[in-house]
Amino acid sequence: MPPRNPQVVVDLSNLAWNYRFLGGLTGAETTIGAAVKANAYGLGDKRVAAALYSAGCRNFFAATPDEASNIRPNLGDDATVFALHDACGHPQDMEQMAAAGIVPVVNHLAALEEWRRLASKIGRRIRIAVHLDTGINRLGMPPDEQEILIAEAQGLLNGLEVRLWMSHLACADEFGRDENDAQRDAFAAVLARLPKAPASLCNSSGIFHGKGFHFDLARPGIALYGGNPVPHMPNPMREVVKLISPVLQIRNVDTGMAVGYGATHRVASKGRVATLALGYADGYIRSLSGLGVVNIGGFSAPVIGRISMDLTTVDVTGIPESAAYAGAVATVIGDGISIDSVAAAAGTISYELLTGLGTRVERVYTGGGEQ
Ligand SMILES: *Cc1c(COP(=O)(O)O)cnc(C)c1O
Repeated sequence: MPPRNPQVVVDLSNLAWNYRFLGGLTGAETTIGAAVKANAYGLGDKRVAAALYSAGCRNFFAATPDEASNIRPNLGDDATVFALHDACGHPQDMEQMAAAGIVPVVNHLAALEEWRRLASKIGRRIRIAVHLDTGINRLGMPPDEQEILIAEAQGLLNGLEVRLWMSHLACADEFGRDENDAQRDAFAAVLARLPKAPASLCNSSGIFHGKGFHFDLARPGIALYGGNPVPHMPNPMREVVKLISPVLQIRNVDTGMAVGYGATHRVASKGRVATLALGYADGYIRSLSGLGVVNIGGFSAPVIGRISMDLTTVDVTGIPESAAYAGAVATVIGDGISIDSVAAAAGTISYELLTGLGTRVERVYTGGGEQ
């Protein structure tokens, strides 16, 4: 039976393949972790994290403490779950994180002090990561605070166990930009002056900059989910995400008729229009109006007219009725329609497209690890 709702079909075996592929690039000296923030880029964090755990992944990066606690119970005790937002200023949440063994990524000295006080209050060491900003000027400890940390490391880290020194690249997906080398060098320089602990710099694209960038742990996200980490080259990753939608209805149209809100599309000659059960509320964003292309039964069908909240209209004039019919399934992402190409057509990036997939889109899992 065709699905009644749009579905995102997540291929867990290709996810695992991508995980292993990245490990092959770095070699054994570097461990591959996973960014599973924002519900694992919209794909369902519990299932994605569990599948990655089965593939050997032991280091997971969530954004918020809530995201971290959501996946923590699904993973073995040998997994480490980091929260990039460290909950400082919220003592109860910090205490809960410590109790659950979630590792906060501490971003500035005042937060470090809060964690130190908590460790002293509960009378045991707390594991933390520290984000050292090397040039993105967003989240992370600024250089002046890094100097203080270096000078007073023993006192400032009292009661704390640094599990990871990390930094984050601003321009990782742009190869040949000086900022990347500058950040790598700055990171290596500050590490040399700090107490020894594992270090992590790379997101997905960062891994492709080569050995000097790898350090001990990498934190890929988008590449695991099949996005292209090397935009200037063919995508080396396997496809993980497929977005499909049922066709609700087929309409015959004739010259001069308009399709959709605002009558932005005028039919040029006799033809057929398929209406999909998918709209911008599902994450098929409105800027794809007149620009998107879907696949129905192996045929290309361009989006015509405006994408509305729950519906999208596509031209199926050239497609045989045996392929394009009410109840047929349209592939919106996948089967040769890459997330990167859809994102580019929409004027955005694959990350925004995936994390924007709506709650109405059913998450379905294939390729092993089904539970
Ligand atoms: C999101 C994120 C990542 C993963 O980035 P990708 O580009 O998806 O690989 C890694 N590190 C940090 C700090 C992040 O916020």
